[in-house]
Parts: sequence; C-alpha cells; structure tokens
Amino acid sequence: MPHLTAVITRFAPSPSGPLHVGHLLAALQARKLADVHGGKCLLRVEDIDERAQHPEYLELMYEDLSWLGLSFDGEIIVQTRRFDVYSSVLEKLRDMDLLYPCFCTRTEIRNQVAEMGRAPHATLGYLYPGTCRNLSSDEVAEKMAAGVPHSWRLDMQRVQDLIGCPRWHDMRRGTQRCVPSAYGDVVLARKDFPASYHLCVVVDDASQGVTHVTRGADLFDATHIHRALQGVLGLPVPQYCHHALLRDNAGKRLAKRDGARSIASLRAAGFTPQQVRNSLHIALQRGGIWEV
Ligand code: GLU
Repeated sequence: MPHLTAVITRFAPSPSGPLHVGHLLAALQARKLADVHGGKCLLRVEDIDERAQHPEYLELMYEDLSWLGLSFDGEIIVQTRRFDVYSSVLEKLRDMDLLYPCFCTRTEIRNQVAEMGRAPHATLGYLYPGTCRNLSSDEVAEKMAAGVPHSWRLDMQRVQDLIGCPRWHDMRRGTQRCVPSAYGDVVLARKDFPASYHLCVVVDDASQGVTHVTRGADLFDATHIHRALQGVLGLPVPQYCHHALLRDNAGKRLAKRDGARSIASLRAAGFTPQQVRNSLHIALQRGGIWEV
C-alpha cells in the first residue's frame, strides 16, 4: 500500500449496549488503516439515540477499550455535546430551502409505502415517499400552531437538482455513483432530537478531518446519503471502506443483543485480550464466522 500523508480514521460506536466483537473488528480496521499510514485514529461517541444514553455502557466501553489495549488519538468527540454545531448546519440547509417539516408517524409511513406496493429497503428501511413535501404553507402553519410533532427531512430531489449524481470511492468496491433521489427524503432532525445519524456523522467526519471512513457493510447504502449531504454542504469527501460483518454459525449477523459476544462477557469468561483478538483473526479467516 502506498504511504498516504495525513490519514485520519475514526471509530464511532453508539454505546447502546456493551461493546461486542463486531465493534472490536470496526475499531481494529480503523486503527490499522491509520497505523499503516502513520496517521491518526480518533474516537467519537455517537450517543444521540436515546438507547445510547446509558452512562453505564459508556463507562463499560472505555473499560473494554482499555482492557483490549486499544488507544485513540486526539480529542474524543461526544455527539450529545454538539447540538449547537448541528443546529447551525440545519439552519444553513433550511436557508438553502432543502428541508421541510414532516408530521407523519412511523405507522403512517409504513402504510403509505405498502399502499404504493413498495417493500422496505434492505438496509435503509421504509424510504419516505415525500408525503409532507406537498403540504401547502397554510397546512404546515396550522400543524405547527397545533404543536403536531414533526421531524425535518432533506428534499433529495432538490439536492439532486443542485449537485447532480456525485461519485465517491469505496476502497473495496471501487467508485460509486450516488443518485440522491433514490434514497427517499431522509430525516435530518428527529421528532425527539434536533439532529439525526446522517447529519451528525457527516458533520462530525468533516469537523474531525476524517480522511478515511471504515465501517460495516450495513452502512454502505447510507454512504450515498452522506455523499449527497457532503455535496450540498461543500464538505470534503473521505474515502470509504465498508468491511464485512461478523456472523454466527447459522450465517446470522451478530447483534448487540447477543450478550455472549460482548467483550465484557468474554473478559468475565477468562479470555485474555490476545485470545479475543486471535478469535477475531480466525473468524475473519473463516469468512467472518464467529464461533466462540
Ligand atoms: N455509530 C454507528 C454504530 O455504532 C457507526 C456509524 C459509522 O461508523 O458511521 O453502528
């Protein structure tokens, strides 16, 4: 691999449960890519989801990382401390006329999608069909005045009119072309929280100067959305590397709820950090099948 200057990667866990071996894989990928190029690997706590607001999991995460001997460079960013940054970006998008309020509930969206005869997207779920995009300003004002809870969505057709179909590069899968309108009008500010994963991840990767984003293949489709946002916000576009996910013997993706694969439980069962890393190495040699 050629030596790249100033490589910055990041590990960005959501502490909504104990760290598990999938997290270790993601962290090691980011650390390794930085180390190979003499760069930096940063840590970012993605805790805007209410399920991730558990101080005990955050504490446990720091303990697990230190037990595993994983260290990170620079300042740790915690998303719930960055409201002001996210709201100024939302303001900018509102000024560009790219956001609209959406009053639909999840059930309504599911029904709208079903009525259109569409199936949920494999990794992005129910793509929003744009119902509230067509509300008149009177209807919006009425709902706002009545205090109907609303999120803010990005008008992807307008995004596409503005930036076209930009490209991004995946280190494993090559050059990709993003068609913004293919992913539905995504939420950038949730009903219960004035930001969303898509917004925060794009803003934070840019703020932290991340040059290479390594993360699981489950986020490959989301990267198209992130590329579109980078386009309208004029942010630098990192390189991406979406790595394969760990699976169990039955081929099922390891999930956070599989407590037995948590680092804490492996630690409690007497494994050493080296044994855990070796098991991960073996799993990767077996095509990502984790057997421990
Ligand atoms: N916070 C996400 C997770 O724990 C990862 C997001 C990312 O790497 O962009 O699954």
